[in-house]
Amino acid sequence: MNSIGKQVLNALKGEINEIDYQRYIKQLSYDENESKSNLAIFRAPNALIANWIRTKFADKIAHLFEIKTNVKPSVSILLPLSTQSTIPNAITPLNTERPNGSLLNPSYTFQNFVVGDSNNFAFIAAKNVSEKPGVVYNPLFIYGGVGLGKTHLMQSVGNVMLAQGKTVIYTSVEQFLNDFTRHLSNRTMDRFKDKYRKCDLLLIDDIQFLSNKNQIQEEFFHTFDALRNENKQIIITSDKPPKKIGGLEERLKSRFESGLVADIQPPELETKIEIIKKKCEINRVKLDREVINYVATIIENNTREIEGILSKLNAYSQLMGVDITIEFARNVLKEQMAEKRSNITIDLIMDIVAKELNIKSSEIRSKSRNSNIVYARRIAIYLSRSLTPNSMPQLAQYFGMKDHTAVSHTMKKIQELMKNDEDFRIKVEELSNKVSISTPE
Ligand code: ADP
Ligand code: MG
Repeated sequence: MNSIGKQVLNALKGEINEIDYQRYIKQLSYDENESKSNLAIFRAPNALIANWIRTKFADKIAHLFEIKTNVKPSVSILLPLSTQSTIPNAITPLNTERPNGSLLNPSYTFQNFVVGDSNNFAFIAAKNVSEKPGVVYNPLFIYGGVGLGKTHLMQSVGNVMLAQGKTVIYTSVEQFLNDFTRHLSNRTMDRFKDKYRKCDLLLIDDIQFLSNKNQIQEEFFHTFDALRNENKQIIITSDKPPKKIGGLEERLKSRFESGLVADIQPPELETKIEIIKKKCEINRVKLDREVINYVATIIENNTREIEGILSKLNAYSQLMGVDITIEFARNVLKEQMAEKRSNITIDLIMDIVAKELNIKSSEIRSKSRNSNIVYARRIAIYLSRSLTPNSMPQLAQYFGMKDHTAVSHTMKKIQELMKNDEDFRIKVEELSNKVSISTPE
């Protein structure tokens, strides 16, 4: 009988293209000894491959585990136990080194965080908290879209306090829940309470997953109060502000709002460029300005993609022994962009928008001036432009608009609304996520 890890990799084979399988996945081995039901550990031969798999396949792997075992584990791609990577300039395995047995990523520091208009407020708040934990704002609640640096910022505070010898716990809702369940069934709740109520800093990432989990909300509420009564700092992240988290007890919402709520917006182009430079520096990848600008324009809003892209550029340039010029970058990344977008079509967007907004998809393309339909039409245009490779003239034609300036006008309008209207931004992002996850990769 194959190990569960092997079974999962076999299942993955059927889901990804052959080249990716041969080049990357085949090199993985499952670490049966170190893995647990909620933590799947694989070993990759070097940091490049590890990083690439982490970026591209870790979610899929976790999902396949969930299908087979009903538990979705965290997936860690680590290097072999005895050896270090020997590839020069390899991307350092960012999420694997955990000194002091802590779960913090040591590269998530304030120094490595690029500050721009989009994240300035949250940055300063986190900085203040690191200087006066438990005093200034408790809790600090940071929210914003995927890949905008929430985890990075909260862990920056963690790393400062860790260096001062403080006890820091970084956890997710899922981990907290697992821990709770385990201690409950082992009748060791005292230890659970000791652990979570005696730390100096509690970092809870992605709290939106508390939604509708009643028992753990109760437990979390008591943990929260115990810590705050002792002036121990709590930092929470979420993809939305407290009042927008559905299925969450009112008393928790009001607790979350009782400190400081700070949002992070998508980075401006200049900030994106600086983040890429920073990542190049940390990972010792050399890119010239033109290439950096190019990468900045293709990553849209999710900064998480940067490491995958750098890793890919680096891997290819080493494989072929050539420098990373702009032509080279375009060629290498073209395939990735096409791949990312090829499965999303305007029709798919129309279907999802129509379904979610309760109208008919044919109405979106009609000439109707009904406000609900206009609303849906604008969002569909915005998502089509953001998520598919269609040009503005193509979209104008598809949606029966006069010309490309009409599309451009709609884009501006939506961007403005998203900036000024929180509810609207969340709605559009939700729709965008629905579109992205409904496509088979
Ligand atoms: P989130 O938790 O909001 O989804 P992360 O904190 O995981 O996002 O950030 C995703 C990646 O982008 C990480 O590698 C992080 O270091 C990087 N990143 C995001 N914002 C910044 C920033 N302002 N400066 C430097 N790196 C950033
Ligand atoms: Mg995060």
